Amino acid sequence: MTDSLPQVRLHNSLTRRAEPLEPIEPGLVTIYTCGSTVYKYAHIGNLRTYLFGDLLHRTLEYLGYEVRYVKNITDVGHMRNDDHDSLAGADKMELAAETEGKSPSEIADFYTRAWLEDEARLNILPADVMPKASDHIGEMISLTERLIENGLAYEVDGTIYYDVSAFPGYGQLSGQKVEETREGHRVEVESDKRDPADFALWKHAHEHRLMRWPSPWGDGFPGWHIECSAMSLKHLGERFDVHTGGIDLKFPHHEDEIAQSEGALGHRVVNVWMHGEFLTMADAKMAKSAGNIIRVADLPGLGHEPLVFRYLALTAHYRSKLDFTADAMHAASSGLARLRRAASGPDTAVDLAEAPMARYRARFADAVADDLATPKALATAHEVASASDLTDVQRRALLLDFDRVLGLDLGVPPQVAAPLPEGAAELLERRAAARAARDYAASDALRDELAAIGVEVRDSPSGQETLVKR
Ligand code: AMP
Ligand code: ZN
Repeated sequence: MTDSLPQVRLHNSLTRRAEPLEPIEPGLVTIYTCGSTVYKYAHIGNLRTYLFGDLLHRTLEYLGYEVRYVKNITDVGHMRNDDHDSLAGADKMELAAETEGKSPSEIADFYTRAWLEDEARLNILPADVMPKASDHIGEMISLTERLIENGLAYEVDGTIYYDVSAFPGYGQLSGQKVEETREGHRVEVESDKRDPADFALWKHAHEHRLMRWPSPWGDGFPGWHIECSAMSLKHLGERFDVHTGGIDLKFPHHEDEIAQSEGALGHRVVNVWMHGEFLTMADAKMAKSAGNIIRVADLPGLGHEPLVFRYLALTAHYRSKLDFTADAMHAASSGLARLRRAASGPDTAVDLAEAPMARYRARFADAVADDLATPKALATAHEVASASDLTDVQRRALLLDFDRVLGLDLGVPPQVAAPLPEGAAELLERRAAARAARDYAASDALRDELAAIGVEVRDSPSGQETLVKR
């Protein structure tokens, strides 16, 4: 019955337009999402990107497609800035291990667990396969060998570089010309690449490096990009439907993945590339390095359950920037409570294919099928919440049906939270950011300000906890 499945349109970064999704195998959509680098806690910016992958996953299943979803765990320390052009600089995984007095694999296990807990708190459904980079070193070595055989890679003292000039399609995703990528790269004194635009597939391990594996070129470790080529090809095959990630992964990570996978196989591998926009704070990208991060664990301290953030993420289209503010979270919280109140009717079986439900359902399905237009989908949910042509039973049935995509626990009765006094949420948010930036003087000052308006704050391993004094 696959020909009766609704048509889905997705914006493809490769062609720069929305296109009808034509799965390679009708009825089944294969998806790969670049997962977390597990040497640090994920922040809600990272999680916005995983929410976008989850939305695609849920939407396709809602519309009747079968989905095979692979999301990897990057547990071999990739170094954002050195991927393309440097062998210098500390490996973040190893640095974290040293700082925290643990082994790299303990670090990876700890932050993997933390990441998956955060995902669960946001109702992100588990992927079918979550491969670890460290379990695929053999595949990465084979792929690298194949690229050397195909004349696309070369060795310099135990390090293998991809020869970007030998792959004519380089730049197709990001729209960058090889010359431009060169200009963007730092000049590395010790770099022995033939061309600054080339990037490492496999890196020679210097003597102090902990994470190292034997290879035909001596002890070394993989480059970050080859990890995703190896894991996606292994778990989804030589051709798959959709690849997702945050917008900053378009270049160099995904451009290099195309060069590797297609350079090795000689044909197109991924049909649709999708990229989610950033979560920002005060219009700056949320990033650990910028010191403006908020974690899922911080949300209760800001007066919100984690699903309020999920609601917030749904209020913006995944290809638009979204600014995290106290006001936006409050609006999200009210919106979520409104939908839960509307869904609190009795549970009685209803046939959603009957009028008038079918009409609302079609509208909701059309919205999500149209490049995951969640603002429209949420608007339909709110229409259902107040529609005069629906009974409470029908309203609940429809909202619970939509919740298969929205993932907002709409069946849960709305909570009556102790209200925070005016201005407290903003102070708590600033304090969470100060703590993330390890600015303890600022965080202490903010604690005093909060105390002055009757909010006592305690710091716990799961973030700030508040007690409102009456
Ligand atoms: P990382 O663990 O640093 O590799 O990042 C994991 C994912 O989060 C990647 O897909 C990034 O593109 C994405 N990401 C990083 N910062 C943000 C942000 N501020 N907003 C949305 N996505 C982000
Ligand atoms: Zn990746």
